Amino acid sequence: MQVDGATALRSLRARILPLIDPQAQPLPSAPHTAFAWPTRLCSIGCAHCSFGARKRGPSEARLVAEHPVDLVDWLIAAKARRLVICGGGEPLDEPAFVQEALRRCAERALPVELYTAGISLLHATSPADAIAALRAAHAGAATPLAVRLSVDAFHEERVGLEHVVRWIQDQERLAPEWRLSLRGIRVEGDGSIERLAARLGASLERSAKGSGWMTLRSGRRVLCEWKGFVLENRGSLAVLASRGLALPSAERETLASMNHDGRNVGRPFSARLTVTNRRIDLEIHACGTVNILESQAADLRMRFLDHSWSGMRSAYFRDPLLHRIVVHDLPGIAELIAAAHGAGLGGPGVPAFSLQNLRDPDVLNAITALAVFEETGGFTYPPAVRDAARCVVDAYGLTPPAAAK
Ligand code: SF4
Repeated sequence: MQVDGATALRSLRARILPLIDPQAQPLPSAPHTAFAWPTRLCSIGCAHCSFGARKRGPSEARLVAEHPVDLVDWLIAAKARRLVICGGGEPLDEPAFVQEALRRCAERALPVELYTAGISLLHATSPADAIAALRAAHAGAATPLAVRLSVDAFHEERVGLEHVVRWIQDQERLAPEWRLSLRGIRVEGDGSIERLAARLGASLERSAKGSGWMTLRSGRRVLCEWKGFVLENRGSLAVLASRGLALPSAERETLASMNHDGRNVGRPFSARLTVTNRRIDLEIHACGTVNILESQAADLRMRFLDHSWSGMRSAYFRDPLLHRIVVHDLPGIAELIAAAHGAGLGGPGVPAFSLQNLRDPDVLNAITALAVFEETGGFTYPPAVRDAARCVVDAYGLTPPAAAK
């Protein structure tokens, strides 16, 4: 049966994904690190929040918070190597979850890290009490807890720096075996980590590579990392400008070269994703859905409460867009999105540098066709898949990036 170009485009993923063998692809069978969000609600409400975290929401917005043991047991069954309890909502808004997850991680020997602002405006718990409760929960663990605190101008604007000063001092006193690091954002005009160092009487050495070390009075060194600003949800150029902040000049030039209006661009300034043919990291959203880190189209998502990792893997590992990211990272997806735009598909609302937030079905199908074209060789696609992809590429005059070079 002949299909017209529009039908071939819109039905492409539905037709080809079942034909691709997930077992034939050169991908690791077990995930490495799982970044899990117990909640997407947050009592703090930073102006730049790339998660768009709000104070209130439906119960689905904190479903994972109700399942700490199920989550850890699922990760153990999946043979994951590490859990990171993430901020975006704030995990300290869910102390019962964090403590129960730490307890289970200690029992099952799963290393765990906590990303947090170091404060909850929902629970008036002092840093010392929070640290003591976490330490009690994680007692007996083979690997000490690692804590990463968010310190930047936007967090400082909402909650100041005093709680971070106290957290660092109290962690040194109460849990000296834990690892501690600080996460800032890489923007001009944000001196919050420098102000924190001054408050602690600490010295700060900053490298050109976006990281550095804070040396506390005791001599203990704390890793500091300034991460690329994320242009999603409330993260925008306008919110930076409103606080007298700006992207570094090299990043401003990159954005200008992308010919994009700067809203919901995605992650052009983030480090390389930990998604390669040797390592696959996961993100587990507050509603329970599991994605391969920033590498998952919106039509392929399953919940850990309903599916094992092996069930997910047999769906997720079929996707040529994941294969594209494994080889070329998010810039490889941005190239495909630009090619789809070049063929007149998608509008200005399509993010230039994100797969996760790409909702336009025509663009999604078009970039899947291009990915089949580009990744044949490294990955295994049967002739019917290659033919279907070629049909879409030809019908829309899509130019595969490799051919354009
Ligand atoms: S950036 Fe973190 S602390 Fe700030 S609103 Fe978002 S989730 Fe909350």
